[in-house]
Amino acid sequence: DTEYTPIPSTHDGFVHVRGANENNLRDVEVRIPRDAIVAFTGVSGSGKSSLAFGTIFAEAQRRFLESVAPYARRLIAQGHTPKVEFISGLPPAVALQQRRGTASSRSTVGTLTTLSNSVRMLFSRAGDYPQGAPRLESDSFSPNTAVGACPICHGLGISHAVTEDSLVPDANLSIREGAIAAWPGAWQGKNLRDITSHLGYDVDVPFRQLPKKERDWLLFTEEQPVVEVTPERDRVAKPYKGRFWSARRYVLHTVAESKSASMRAKALQFMHTGPCPECAGTGFRPDALAVTCAGLNIAEFNATALDGLAVLLRPLAEARNKESGGMSGEVAASIATDLLERITVLTGLGLGYLSLDRGTPTLSPGEMQRLRIATQLRSGLFGVIYVLDEPSAGLHPADAQPLLEVLEALKAGGNSVFVVEHNMDVVARADWIIDVGPGAGAGGGKVLYSGPVAGLADVNESVTRQFLEPRDSANEPRTPRVAEKWLELDGIRLHNLVGLDARFPLGVLTAVTGVSGSGKSSLVSQALAVGLRDQLRAGGSVTSSEPTEADGTDPDTEMARATLGEVRGAQRIDRIVAMDQKPIGRTPRSNLATYTGLFDAVRKAFAQTPLALERGYGAGRFSFNVAGGRCETCLGEGYLEVELLFLPGSYGPCPQCHGSRYNPETLEVSYAGKNIAEVLELSVDDAAEFLAEIPAAARSLQTLRDVGLGYLSLGQPAPELSGGEAQRIKLATELQRARRGHTLYLLDEPTTGLHPADVALLLQQLHRLVQESNTVVVVEHHMDVVAAADWVIDLGPAGGDQGGKIIATGTPRELALNPTSKTAPYLARRLG
Ligand code: ADP
Ligand code: ADP
Ligand code: ZN
Ligand code: ZN
Repeated sequence: DTEYTPIPSTHDGFVHVRGANENNLRDVEVRIPRDAIVAFTGVSGSGKSSLAFGTIFAEAQRRFLESVAPYARRLIAQGHTPKVEFISGLPPAVALQQRRGTASSRSTVGTLTTLSNSVRMLFSRAGDYPQGAPRLESDSFSPNTAVGACPICHGLGISHAVTEDSLVPDANLSIREGAIAAWPGAWQGKNLRDITSHLGYDVDVPFRQLPKKERDWLLFTEEQPVVEVTPERDRVAKPYKGRFWSARRYVLHTVAESKSASMRAKALQFMHTGPCPECAGTGFRPDALAVTCAGLNIAEFNATALDGLAVLLRPLAEARNKESGGMSGEVAASIATDLLERITVLTGLGLGYLSLDRGTPTLSPGEMQRLRIATQLRSGLFGVIYVLDEPSAGLHPADAQPLLEVLEALKAGGNSVFVVEHNMDVVARADWIIDVGPGAGAGGGKVLYSGPVAGLADVNESVTRQFLEPRDSANEPRTPRVAEKWLELDGIRLHNLVGLDARFPLGVLTAVTGVSGSGKSSLVSQALAVGLRDQLRAGGSVTSSEPTEADGTDPDTEMARATLGEVRGAQRIDRIVAMDQKPIGRTPRSNLATYTGLFDAVRKAFAQTPLALERGYGAGRFSFNVAGGRCETCLGEGYLEVELLFLPGSYGPCPQCHGSRYNPETLEVSYAGKNIAEVLELSVDDAAEFLAEIPAAARSLQTLRDVGLGYLSLGQPAPELSGGEAQRIKLATELQRARRGHTLYLLDEPTTGLHPADVALLLQQLHRLVQESNTVVVVEHHMDVVAAADWVIDLGPAGGDQGGKIIATGTPRELALNPTSKTAPYLARRLG
């Protein structure tokens, strides 16, 4: 075959892609300018990510890894090689996707941005030391290093201690009545009581009446006398030798040694967990804490919001120009100048409310991504492509401008910036737009337009086009619903909410708005979702509520429990459902078919086929989560984790079942011509037709289509789903339930990842929930949603300590007129 294809020059300033067939892409050919901001648009599932991440980024990464490590070629082949014929003009690429920090991570805003390195240097080289104290090296200012950690708590800042109070919650009880609550229960507890009694202690007087010396011995002794015990109750039982355990010894032993997590957790309840007294909970060594900068020690410095640090650093940075304060003044000025510049970028991105010591697991994916973007500005890389996933997620419209400035700065640094984006304010400012579509899945996958933004207006097929033009107010002017009853919460305390009183109208759709960091999530996802639910549960008024994944198991949520004062109107709520963006599962074992329950119906149908009946295969045979029908090599995951040091957590297809997840015998059974693995490969749209005869499956599939997820495949593993998709799967799962009403639904930015055309679809579903007598509260930045709400609560005025207050409430039209609200101008523009 000698067909001649002209190879475009790699020096024409464009990336040329030809024959891209990744996922749903249909033989895509496109040229994309380098050194430009390029927006990839299109409805959800149209193929934007398949092009930007799945093809361009994947290929750049593959080439890069090949060039740095020849021996890696073999390994990478198991990873992702995009289906693309040809790409030229491709520089190395860096992907900045929206990911949560891993829950166990000890990383902080300071370590992630590397600002902490400079801060330690500042303290080491230019801090104010106590008279005569020696200078410390910069590692001494980190609790995570051997030299810097507090010697008592090893840098953790926490100490566990037992006291009489913690071990004996009610000293009016006798030992027989269970005064020493920290002792084990049941049989073992009776033994200890018998032993105590044999040792000559009175187990029948209230514990507090025992002499102090006796109480101390019972609770704290290290001694473990062994005595011969005749069981008190059961006289026929044989005497036995019993060993005494003081309450402290028992608790410490259980915490350190028990294999049972619930035993350990129970034992921990009898310890006071508090700040380490040596370092006051900071984890720093005492001599490091004695050093100050701008009047703050390192712990205080790290706890100050970035906005505040900028104020502190400015005079230090400016000192350079005025007097030369000697060597250390010079050093201080140059480090302070550098820090100040970097912090200014972060505050510009609306992150000024974060402090350096804030743990990354507590940040939202949008906050994480913006931190990473800002950090890249300092990386000094040039000539790379940055591929970003909706950098505007979590951003108030007022903060879109600074984001654009940072993207411009990356470009000015000699880089290309490719963004998958739905926010039309950002898209409109790009140099170039690539619109993918027209529809989702098989209905998309074509590049409809590639060129300067203005040109999209002429592309009839494009769904994006209409949203780029300034909206006329042709939008149906809805009359807001008027609530009759209200849910009222007084004295909410959490993070920057300091005794906030908030009222939520029941039976309507409420949007909670405000700039990033103003307290929206604290109010909705914590105070309402966790705090109110706990309170209702304790009072027995919530009959059933859905445990979220975070429920009680996520230590960060545990610590972030809001305190609520008085609550009124809660008796009108039967159930609280928080539909957050947390994954529907962390392994490829979960997918939307298992999560929504539709897979149960499918498995039952397979069990009813003639071959299954003949072989005696029940529904369980068709599960990939239990032994029987699944492939035992990959235990039904279809993938095996490829352990590579430099590519943590990569998955490769299972060599045994080639990703089908099942063993060959199971795959011999087919329903309407497809085996179970083939059914899992169907998209929701195709499955709706294929499974139309199975009512339970058909109902789930319809609700999934209703929330715009028709393009997803049934078996798409949970870790591959975006946060927005996970949230919409949760929404669909709720919509398919029998109608109950009187549920309070809480959603945090449900439009993340949604094209404006899909936002309309989502809104219909939210209204549907309201029409069925439920209450819906959404945290949102998207003005289409805010404009369509019945009620708006605007928080502010700014982020962090400057926020946490309700600035305005009212119908969208009322709010749009509020002169102090930062949201009002954007809402007014949307309402026309
Ligand atoms: P967008 O970014 O426009 O939302 P995607 O590129 O993520 O769209 O998806 C395009 C199509 O490819 C969809 O039908 C989607 O279900 C499918 N798809 C995406 N990722 C995968 C994957 N890892 N495996 C199989 N199909 C996928
Ligand atoms: P929004 O949702 O409006 O962006 P948040 O409720 O996330 O605002 O944050 C409000 C304030 O509370 C901010 O100052 C933020 O830094 C702080 N905050 C939020 N979550 C945590 C947390 N887990 N730990 C400490 N501070 C937090
Ligand atoms: Zn300590
Ligand atoms: Zn397998």
